[in-house]
Amino acid sequence: MQYFPLFHRFQDKPILVVGGGDIAVRKINLLQRSGCKIKVVAPEISDGIASKPQCDCHYRRFEREDVQGMALVVSATDKTEVNQLVADSARAAGVLVNVVDTPDLCDVIFPSIVDRDPLIIGITSSGQAPVLARSIRAKLESTIPASYGHLAQLASRFRNAVKQRFDRLDDRRYFWEKILNGTVAEHVYSGRMEQAEKLLEAELQRAEVSHTGEVYLVGAGPGDPDLLTFKALRLMQQADVVLYDRLVSDAILDLVRRDAERLYVGKQRSEHAVPQADINQTLLELAQQGKRVLRLKGGDPFIFGRGGEEIDLLAEHGVPFQVVPGITAASGCACYTGIPLTHRDYAQSVRFVTGHLKDGSLDLPWTELASKQQTVVFYMGLMGLPKICTKLIQHGRAPDTPIALVQKGTTPDQRLWVATLATMPDLIQQDPPRAPTLIIVGEVVSLHERLQWAGTATHPVIDT
Ligand code: SAH
Repeated sequence: MQYFPLFHRFQDKPILVVGGGDIAVRKINLLQRSGCKIKVVAPEISDGIASKPQCDCHYRRFEREDVQGMALVVSATDKTEVNQLVADSARAAGVLVNVVDTPDLCDVIFPSIVDRDPLIIGITSSGQAPVLARSIRAKLESTIPASYGHLAQLASRFRNAVKQRFDRLDDRRYFWEKILNGTVAEHVYSGRMEQAEKLLEAELQRAEVSHTGEVYLVGAGPGDPDLLTFKALRLMQQADVVLYDRLVSDAILDLVRRDAERLYVGKQRSEHAVPQADINQTLLELAQQGKRVLRLKGGDPFIFGRGGEEIDLLAEHGVPFQVVPGITAASGCACYTGIPLTHRDYAQSVRFVTGHLKDGSLDLPWTELASKQQTVVFYMGLMGLPKICTKLIQHGRAPDTPIALVQKGTTPDQRLWVATLATMPDLIQQDPPRAPTLIIVGEVVSLHERLQWAGTATHPVIDT
């Protein structure tokens, strides 16, 4: 190990920074998080530094004596001779030194930091490949929730109580694993500190270590796994059991924790493989058995997703749950085909409408839907498409209004049909699409010709 990691307490200690430009600013911004006192020496010092209350600025050249009594010296100038002089002086005085971007002159180097205070992660490539260290940091930043620090604080408050409760180290570890990966942690991430603390307290009082279950109602987006949220991915990776349906792509299902039990509750348009009431009941029972239950829904769970119905029973029984929004099909399909849903010139509003009503009829407010200057998006509209076109025309929308039909938007099987209200029914009869499909009606559709982008071009796009 060329560099040994140590976490340093700099509170109230003096640190010298030589240099007053951009590089110095970046280092000072980092260092000041430690509560240290910073002495800055440079002939010119930027206002960004001079205005900081923790900085004691000296407008002059560096002198050897500046390093005396310092806890750390940082040389942040672009002058090789100055950096060399600072490094030599610090070493002679036995003070640790860092010279920015010059590993040869450094006793200590700055790691890339993931800051979830009091949880701090430092990553270094020992100066060999800083870009690699930064990209690992970016990965960690995206997978460690921002409120991890709060979890660490909570754990620290209960540390002694847990020690007293469990004599054996193994028991303590088991207890903490359950707490830090379970419902208590989820309460913290969702900002429910009080509930987290109460539950932790309750768990501590139990004779046996156990955990209560929870349901995660998660929007999985329209298909492309890159469109998942960080939160969705985290919950997918800690679920004990997952209930999914036809709209969730295989690529997304692959990201669910490998040993999670998988229950298909698939839904086709005409056939409900598992009746809704049974799904609701299953979610309840699994959570009551103490499981972390992931209910993975296509798109957004609260947009034509029956999300409200699925958590209603849980709410009634006091089972904890959380809902994670997803990118809805309208957003996904529109972006991936270059069709902006609103546009200052063409559409000042957008409506999401279901093309499939509970009783099979298509009794919609057609006069409103036919009004100009708006985009209308139909979910579940493939079967009703001829009727949708006819009704819109009957109620006053121009027959040459552009309409798009997107098949399996955002997936490698994405396909696009573009026509007018008058011509679309014939077009799809000649070349029938496969579900799921989304229908977009409005002038904005014509923009796709100019706005389709690389992401859309990689999928086969049919334009007629
Ligand atoms: N909750 C989902 C919608 C569920 S309703 C969401 O927010 O997206 C099911 C309908 O969504 C389908 O009939 C289809 O109209 C639409 N849909 C979902 N995913 C789609 C996709 N990848 N491409 C096209 N349409 C999609």
